[in-house]
Amino acid sequence: MNKVLILGAGQLARMMELAGTPLNLDVKALDVLSNKVVQPLAPEYICGDLETGIKNADVITAEFEHVAHNILAKCERSGKLYPTSNAIKIGGDRRLEKALLESCNAANAKHYFVNDKVDFDKAIEHLSLPIIFKTALEGYDGKGQWRLKSAADAEAVWQDMADFLTASKTTVKQGIVAEQMVPFDREVSLVGVRRVNGDVAVYPLTENHHTDGILSVSLAAPVNAQLQKQAGTVFKALSDKLNYVGVMAIEFFQVGNQLLVNEIAPRVHNSGHWTQQGADTCQFENHLRAICDLPLGSTALIRPTAMVNIIGEDTVPDAVLAIPSATIHWYNKVKRAGRKMGHINVSGNNELQLAERLQRLADILCKQAFPDLSGFAKSYIEKQS
Ligand code: ATP
Ligand code: MG
Repeated sequence: MNKVLILGAGQLARMMELAGTPLNLDVKALDVLSNKVVQPLAPEYICGDLETGIKNADVITAEFEHVAHNILAKCERSGKLYPTSNAIKIGGDRRLEKALLESCNAANAKHYFVNDKVDFDKAIEHLSLPIIFKTALEGYDGKGQWRLKSAADAEAVWQDMADFLTASKTTVKQGIVAEQMVPFDREVSLVGVRRVNGDVAVYPLTENHHTDGILSVSLAAPVNAQLQKQAGTVFKALSDKLNYVGVMAIEFFQVGNQLLVNEIAPRVHNSGHWTQQGADTCQFENHLRAICDLPLGSTALIRPTAMVNIIGEDTVPDAVLAIPSATIHWYNKVKRAGRKMGHINVSGNNELQLAERLQRLADILCKQAFPDLSGFAKSYIEKQS
């Protein structure tokens, strides 16, 4: 098994090719816009169409959950798709995701499904304000969400949502999931991996910070054992239920000592990019190992590591590379506001050293492009003293 086809040819496929090459894995990716199979690191090099791609591959996987269902069906029929199309579809539909969480008794925010005005009014009755409304399909980076804080805004929010539903052209019927706003202490995620034989390995919980709804910083450092155990138990329950193969991420809200699941991602995840420098085996390699049925690599944290997303910028000062242990990972993408263009990983021998290096990084980077980094580094330094 050494020929892998990834559905989706973005940065995650690119990083899988980078991780798979030392294992002699031949990694190709389907560009879903052109429907051509390409080399992730050289997407101008076209290797054929989907049919040829499926035929030539030993295993097929996905780098995003919004893959067209007819493509998933074709791949599943080949018997080569990992994880299953069911798992991928669940990650792409918040209604199915909620049903999965309920079936596994995984704690999550109180919610209500909304298709029309009657449901909308019932959701407000059933949940208390503030409420967050999320599109069931196609949401990412905080897009497709409405927040209702006061009853006076209900009509306006509903009108906007109703217009959105009417204009929606999805093949599966679009809908809305209303969710109780959770007054969380922080957001964390767990990236884990499961092999065909049921072996599971999880990385340490990662603390996540968002700027304008987009992940900006992930921090991996030694974690509270009780929380780690809680998250690991949820991972095991969900991944066993799905008979999952590969890397899956679970985003949580931490409220006191309890973790509530926000959402799952049936793929390698942005909050796991720190593993490239901070873990024994990175998430991209572990995903490939799992789908190729190879022994999983250790997920142990080598040293405290943070990942800083580069959003909407295609250059950073060269001085970044002068920070010990800072590495830059560009995605070879055309610059666009709000677009994830690359990331910087920074490690330290201890948390104070990491925090100081992050402060140094924040001093070098443009404040407008990284508005929250300096504040994050400052408070992280303060926490260490
Ligand atoms: P991403 O693609 O970045 O993971 P998304 O568009 O899929 O995001 P969510 O993760 O569901 O959407 O929500 C984005 C952010 O909105 C969350 O990280 C969190 O900060 C906030 N949020 C979402 N749901 C809730 C909730 N129920 N209570 C409080 N905050 C919430
Ligand atoms: Mg999210």
